Amino acid sequence: MMSAESSVAKRLEGKVALITGGASGIGESTTRVFVKHGAKVLIADIQDELGHSLCKELGSWETISYIHCDVTRESDVQNAVDLAVSKYGKLDIMFNNAGILGEPELRAIASNIEDFKRVYDVNVFGAFLGAKHASRVMIPAKKGCILFTASMLSMICTGLPHAYTTSKHAVVGLTKSLAVELGEYGIRVNCISPYAIVTPLFQGASGILDMQNGEEKISAAAVLKGAILETNDVAHAALFLASDEAKYLNGVNLPVDGGYSLYKPTWKTGLKDYTP
Ligand code: NAD
Repeated sequence: MMSAESSVAKRLEGKVALITGGASGIGESTTRVFVKHGAKVLIADIQDELGHSLCKELGSWETISYIHCDVTRESDVQNAVDLAVSKYGKLDIMFNNAGILGEPELRAIASNIEDFKRVYDVNVFGAFLGAKHASRVMIPAKKGCILFTASMLSMICTGLPHAYTTSKHAVVGLTKSLAVELGEYGIRVNCISPYAIVTPLFQGASGILDMQNGEEKISAAAVLKGAILETNDVAHAALFLASDEAKYLNGVNLPVDGGYSLYKPTWKTGLKDYTP
């Protein structure tokens, strides 16, 4: 008898995906889900040890591999895209997921401009480079899927650092702008906006947030009760957007936030401070 897991149709069979920030958190979960669904995956990250050990765990060089790639360096991103094509023959899915939170300074007046630029470098410029080089190989193929991880902070402001919040707004702008340009070539461009999850990035917010019982606080602040957002849930949103089932979705910012971005805090709650 087939297990529930093995009976699930492989929704990315034959596809090739490149995932930036694929060694940890949301990227790691997406790598796992994409491999399970039959994709060949190239992980691009700066955490070499984590990347290599994930590859070792998940399969052979024929199906999954790792490349050191700092998304802020164009030559690194170019090499990653070229490796995906030379190793696996093409690139179907480019998931620009790498991101950083930056320094936990909330006041504009005290912000460090170099840190602000660094956040934009990774979250916006790095994401753009991924799209630029992916489109270089997708345009001739006249198909492809480009995804970004934005954040619910692409839609609302919860009092986290200005650099992070505005960089995620910019990712949505990038998504829309690219969707309009690249639609002509059959390339779909979408982004995903998750609510909070305790990943290493989120833990970096410990300078701002009381991270004790982080998950409990995230749950307490959530609009949707009875479920806790996990990296795997974001990975499944990426799976849907990357699959042929989403063949007419283009320029979408998909919230995976349990309705949080619809919520307006009232005098009764002081929970907004627990969201990234
Ligand atoms: P994470 O820290 O687990 O993963 C981020 C990954 O990006 C890491 O593997 C890191 O090495 C990599 N990375 C950082 N800088 C890089 C660079 N210059 N080049 C290549 N790789 C780089 O955190 P995560 O929470 O999984 O974050 C993934 C994405 O999700 C980010 O874009 C983040 O902004 C977004 N996000 C996270 C949350 C959350 O609550 N965790 C919520 C909304 C959106």
